[in-house]
Amino acid sequence: SNVPADVLVIFGISGDLARKMTFRSLYRLERRKLLTCPIVGVARDGWSDDALRDHARAAIEAAGEPLDESVLARFAARLSYVQGDYADPETFHRLARAVNGMRHPVFYLEIPPSLFARVVEGLAGVGLTKGARVVVEKPFGHDLASARALNAELRQLLDEDQLLRIDHFLGKEPAMDIQFLRFANSVFEPVWNRDHISCVQITMAEDFGVEDRGHFYDPVGALRDVVQNHLLQLLALVASEPPSAADADALRDRRVDVFRAIPDADPAHYVRGQYEGYLQVPGVRPRSRTETFVGLRLEVENWRWSGVPFFIRAGKSLPERVTEIRIVFKRPPRLAFAERFVPEPDQWILRIDPSPGVNFRIQAKQPGKQDTQLVDLDLLFEAALGEAPEPYERLLSDAMQGNASLFTREDSVEETWRIVQPLLEAPSDPERYRQGTWGPAGASKLVAGYPRWHEPWLPARSPD
Ligand code: NAP
Repeated sequence: SNVPADVLVIFGISGDLARKMTFRSLYRLERRKLLTCPIVGVARDGWSDDALRDHARAAIEAAGEPLDESVLARFAARLSYVQGDYADPETFHRLARAVNGMRHPVFYLEIPPSLFARVVEGLAGVGLTKGARVVVEKPFGHDLASARALNAELRQLLDEDQLLRIDHFLGKEPAMDIQFLRFANSVFEPVWNRDHISCVQITMAEDFGVEDRGHFYDPVGALRDVVQNHLLQLLALVASEPPSAADADALRDRRVDVFRAIPDADPAHYVRGQYEGYLQVPGVRPRSRTETFVGLRLEVENWRWSGVPFFIRAGKSLPERVTEIRIVFKRPPRLAFAERFVPEPDQWILRIDPSPGVNFRIQAKQPGKQDTQLVDLDLLFEAALGEAPEPYERLLSDAMQGNASLFTREDSVEETWRIVQPLLEAPSDPERYRQGTWGPAGASKLVAGYPRWHEPWLPARSPD
C-alpha cells in the first residue's frame, strides 16, 4: 500500500495537538514542496473553510514559524472543512461527499483514543476505509489488555498495513540516526555487544512539572506516558540487529525482535518517584500515587546483550531538560605507565533533545602529566549537517506516501505493554523527591554495581 494519498483528512482539527504541531508541520511540508493533496479538517465546531484557514494561519504563527505569504496561500488553498459529531452517521456522509472520487485517503485521528473505533466504524459505514490508511495518535492503550482490545477492535475494520500508530520519537532525526551511526560506520558494530559494553543508560529528563496538565497526567504517569512507548522504541533502535532490507516490515521486525528478547520487567528493579508539590497541581487527585519519575532496569536476553542491563530513567521537575542515550563501555585495565590512573569507562552518548548530537567521551593524556582526563569528541548535528525536519513532518509525509516503517506495529505495541505490565500491577507508593534534583534516592540504588548515572551531556549554554 505505498500508493500516495490523494487526500489527507484530519479528525480533531480544532484540537490542541493540531494547533501546536499539525498545522506547522504541514506548512513546513508545503514549503519543502512535499504536499501534493488536498486536506480536509473535521471537528464539531461550526467553522467555514475560511475559518479553518484563519485558524491555520494563527496556529502556524503562534508556533513561531516564519510566514511566507505565498507558501501560506498555497497551503490555505488545500484546506477545507467538514463539520460534524462523530456519533452522527450524517457526518460521514458529508465527509464522503467532500472526498468523492478520492481512492487513497489518509485519515489522521488526532482525537481521544476512546473515539478511534467509532470514527473508523463511521468511515467503514460509508465505504471510506477501502484503499485508505488510518493514522492514530498516542496513547495506544492504557495497559496490555486495553491495547489488545483496541487492536482487536480496529483490526475488525482495517488490515494491519492500513493502520499507522504514531510514536513521534521514531520520527525524530537523531533517533533515526542511531541506526545510521551504528551500521553506516564499521567501527561501532564490533564493540556493540556484551563483550565490550557494561550498560546502557537512557535518560529523559524534563526541568518542568505537570503545569496545567494535571487532569491529563494524573491517570497516566511517567511509565505510561514516555517509557512504554518512546523510550522502549529508542532502546530497540540501540539494541536491534541490522535490518536486511528497506521495506517497512524488515525494519519493524528488527525492533520487535528486541522486545521479544526482553523478559517481563521485574518490580524489584523499578523505582517510582513523585516530586514534592505534585499533589497541589490542579487536576491531580488528592493523595494521588501517580509517579512523575521512574527508573527501571531491563535485560535483553539474546546473544548480543545478555548480561548488559539497560537502565531507563524519566522524570519531571529534574534539573535539566535532556533526552539522551548513553552506551557505557567496560573499564580498561590498569595502565602501567600512568601515575594515578582512574580507569573511566569510555562512553558513547547520543543526545536526542535538545540540540541533537553525538559525543564519544574518551580518555586522553593530560599535558605535562603522566595521567589521563576525559575529553569529548562531539558533534552537533545541526551545525555539521544542517537543519533537520521535525518529527511530525516526517511522519505525516511518510503516512501520505504509504511508508509505514516509522509507525509502531500491532506486535510491537503489545510486546512493549507486556514488558511493563508487571510494573503497572505492583504500584508501590512513590518516593518523594525535591524539585530540581535527579529523582528519589532509589534511582541510584537501581544502578548499584554498575557505573553510576552520569550527569547528562548538556548543550552548551549561551553566555548570558
Ligand atoms: P483535544 O484538544 O482535547 O481534542 C482533539 C480533538 O478531539 C478536538 O477536535 C476535539 O473537538 C475532539 N474531541 C474531543 N472529545 C470529543 C468528543 N467527545 N466528541 C467529538 N470530538 C471530540 O486533544 P489533543 O490534545 O489535540 O489530543 C488529540 C490526540 O493526540 C489524543 O489522542 C492525544 O492523546 C494525542 N496527543 C496529544 C498531544 C498534545 O500535546 N496535545 C501530544 C501527543 C499526543 P472539540 O474541539 O470540539 O472539543
